[in-house]
Amino acid sequence: MQPRHMYVHVPFCARRCTYCDFAIAVRRVVPVEEYLTALDTELRLRWADAGLALDTLYLGGGTPSRLGADGVARAIDVVRRVATLAAGAELTIEANPEDVTADVARRWRDAGVNRVSLGVQSFDDGALTWMHRVHDAARAERAVGELRDAGIENLSIDLIFALPEEAGPRSWERDLERAVALEPPHVSLYGLTVEAHTPLGKALAVGGITEAPEDRYERDFLAAHEVMTAAGLEHYEVSNFGRPAMHSRHNGAYWRSVPYAGVGPGAHELRVDGDRMVRRWNDDAYARWAGTLRAGRDPIAGDETLTAENRIAEQVYLGLRTAGGLAIRAEEREKVRGWVDAGWGVLAEVAGAPGAPPEAGLVFRPTPLGWLRLDALAADLTALRSR
Ligand code: SF4
Repeated sequence: MQPRHMYVHVPFCARRCTYCDFAIAVRRVVPVEEYLTALDTELRLRWADAGLALDTLYLGGGTPSRLGADGVARAIDVVRRVATLAAGAELTIEANPEDVTADVARRWRDAGVNRVSLGVQSFDDGALTWMHRVHDAARAERAVGELRDAGIENLSIDLIFALPEEAGPRSWERDLERAVALEPPHVSLYGLTVEAHTPLGKALAVGGITEAPEDRYERDFLAAHEVMTAAGLEHYEVSNFGRPAMHSRHNGAYWRSVPYAGVGPGAHELRVDGDRMVRRWNDDAYARWAGTLRAGRDPIAGDETLTAENRIAEQVYLGLRTAGGLAIRAEEREKVRGWVDAGWGVLAEVAGAPGAPPEAGLVFRPTPLGWLRLDALAADLTALRSR
C-alpha cells in the first residue's frame, strides 16, 4: 500500500524560539543548494520507482518559508520527480510572517502551494519578543493580507496559549479576538509545555520562569473553544479549528493512521509492509542527514514494527483526538457512560461506525472538557482493550 501523503522537513530557522524542541538547524544563510541536493537524493533512494501519487504534500519545519520563493518552488519540483500530485491535492507550507511578501506569496501560489500554515503565535509584541520570535503583530496581519491577495485562501493561523507569567501581560482573550478578526478558515493551537533541553527548560531549572498553572491552561483552552466556535470554526480535533471544507487533510491522514512518507532531517514515516505497520525515522541532525546523503546512503536513524498493543493505543488515542470520536465496544459502555455523566463527552448512535463490531454502533465524542483529559481517557480505554 503506497502512501498518498508526504511530509518534507525543512529544518532551517533564523534563531531558536525559547520554547522550541523541534529538529531545527539555526542558519543565518540557508544552504538551499545543499539541502535540495540532499532532498533529491533521499527521494530517489526511497521512492524513485514507487510511482507515488499524493493527495497531500506538507512542507514543515523548522521554517520552510526560509527557503524563499525560488527554494520552495524547487523543493516542490524535486518531490514531483518521484511523485505526482493528484488533482486537487492539498499542498501546504509552514511559513513565518517575516518571510511573506506579496511577491513571495504569488510565487508560492504559482508553484502549486494552496495552503499556508502561518506561525503567528500571538498578537502581543511583548510576548513575541519574549518567545524570541522574529516578527511583530503588524507583520503577521500584513502577511495574511498578502497571502490572500495572492489567492491563497486556505490559511491556518498558529497560536500559543498557557504562556508563563514572565512572558508579560499578554491577554489571551485579545489574541483570540484579533485572530478571529482576520477571519481565518483554520486555526491551530499549541499549549506551551516546557521541555528540558529548550531555552525555557533551562530557565525553569534555575528558577527563571514558572510554568503556567493547570487551571490557566484549562481556562485558555476553553476560551479558545468558545471564541472559535462562535466565529463558525468547528473544533474538529483537540488542537485544531476549521471551516468544514478547510480541515487539514494532511494531518487527517496522521489521525487516521494511514501510511505516509517522510523525508528530511528528523522526519518520520509510516509504511505498511504486508500485515505489518512500520514506523521509521531519519537522523535529526541536519549536517549528519546531509552528509549521509552526500555519501549516497539512506539517513534512517531507526525503525519499529508496531505491536498489537501499539496499534490499539494509537487507534484509541487518535480516535479520541478527533471530533468524529471513537467507536465503543459493548464491554466499554459502562466506563464510557461514567465519562458522559462527568461531562467529558457524548455517546452517539452511528450506523457502521468505523472499527466497531456490527452490533456496537456507539461512538464516544469528547467535549472540550474531555479533551483536557485526553491522555488519561486514552490510557484507560487502551488498558481495557489490551486485556
Ligand atoms: S520558528 Fe518554529 S521551528 Fe523555528 S525555532 Fe521557532 S518554533 Fe522552532
